[in-house]
Amino acid sequence: MWEEGNFQQTVMTAVIPIFIPHEGCPHRCAFCNQRYTRSAPPITAEEVQQAIRAWLARFSPERRAKKPQIAFYGGSFTALPQPRQDELLQAARPFLDSGQAGGIRLSTRPDAMDATTAQRLKAAGVRLVELGVQSCDDAVLAQAGRGHDFTASLAASGVIRDAGLQLGWQLLVGLPGEGFSGIRRMAQECERVRPDCIRLYPLLVLRGSQLAADWQAGRFQPLTLAKAVVFCAFLKKRLDAAGLAIIRLGLQTGPELEAETLAGPLHPAFGELVASRVMFQKARKLLAVQPEQPCTLHLAPQDLSLFIGLKRANLKRLAALADQGLIARFRLQPDPGLSRGSLTRCALQ
Ligand code: SF4
Repeated sequence: MWEEGNFQQTVMTAVIPIFIPHEGCPHRCAFCNQRYTRSAPPITAEEVQQAIRAWLARFSPERRAKKPQIAFYGGSFTALPQPRQDELLQAARPFLDSGQAGGIRLSTRPDAMDATTAQRLKAAGVRLVELGVQSCDDAVLAQAGRGHDFTASLAASGVIRDAGLQLGWQLLVGLPGEGFSGIRRMAQECERVRPDCIRLYPLLVLRGSQLAADWQAGRFQPLTLAKAVVFCAFLKKRLDAAGLAIIRLGLQTGPELEAETLAGPLHPAFGELVASRVMFQKARKLLAVQPEQPCTLHLAPQDLSLFIGLKRANLKRLAALADQGLIARFRLQPDPGLSRGSLTRCALQ
C-alpha cells in the first residue's frame, strides 16, 4: 500500500509528468498561449497509465525505489469537471496502491481550490498542490487577466495546508506593471507563507498570447535577460536565506519553446545565470569589506564555474572593480569541506 513519506522527500522526489494542456481552463491569461497551441485530443485514462508505465520502465532501480510522484501539469486540474478529475486520479491510483509511485502532485489556479476540493484530493492520493500564484500584486494580476486576486492565492494556500497537503507556488517574473517593488513583495509573501516549494519563471512573450499582440503593437516590452537575472537573483538570495526550496528557476528550453517564443529572457541556462549572479554579489560584498587587503575566497569546488560565470563574466566584473580600488584583489581556493553556495574570505598569508 501507498504510505506517507517524509515532507522534504515529497518535494524533491522524481516525478512522472503527465501533461493536460489547457483542459478545464475557461480563462485567457494574457501571457498564456495554451489555447492557441492545444491541438491533441485530451489524454485518456489508458494513455495516462501507459505513460506512467513507460516512465517507470525508464527509471533506474534506485530511482524507482525512491517512489516517484505522478504529476498532472500544464492545466488547471481542479477546474476540470469532477468526473474528469476522478478519471485521471483513478488512473494513477493503482500505481500508488502497488507502491510503485509515492503520491500525486498537480498544478491548478488559486480560485479553483476550496476546502472540500483539497480534502477530496488528499483522499485520492494527492500529496502536493502547486498554485499558479504568478504575482502578489492585485493590479498586476488584473492586468494579466488572471481573474483572481492575491487574496484568492492566500485562501487557497490555507485550505491546501489545512488538508495536510504540501503547497507549491509558481511565480512569474516580468508581468506587465510589475517592477522591483512587486518582486520585493513576492519575496516577503514567500517568507510569510513559506510554501514547501517554489518555481520562478521569467515571463516570455509566446506566439498566440495576448501579450504577443501587445508586444507586436509596441504596448509591452518583456524584461531583458540581464534584468530578469537581476530580479530572480534578488528572489533567490531572499528565498535561500529563508530556507525555502526553489525547485525550478527558468523554463525548460527546447525547439518547441524556442519556436513559440517571440521575445523575452529565454536562455537555456537561466538558472545558472541567476546562481552565478548571486555568487558575484556575495563576492563583491565580501571583497568590499577591506578593499585594500588582498585575500583568498573559499568556495565549494562544484561552484567554481558559477563563480567564474558564463564567458568569465563575473571574473571580468570583479577585475574591473579591483582595478578601481573598490574591492580587494583575491585568490580563489576551492574547498571540498564547504557546502554549495557558500563563500568565505580569509586574509592572504
Ligand atoms: S489559468 Fe493557466 S491554463 Fe488557463 S489561461 Fe491562465 S495560464 Fe493558461
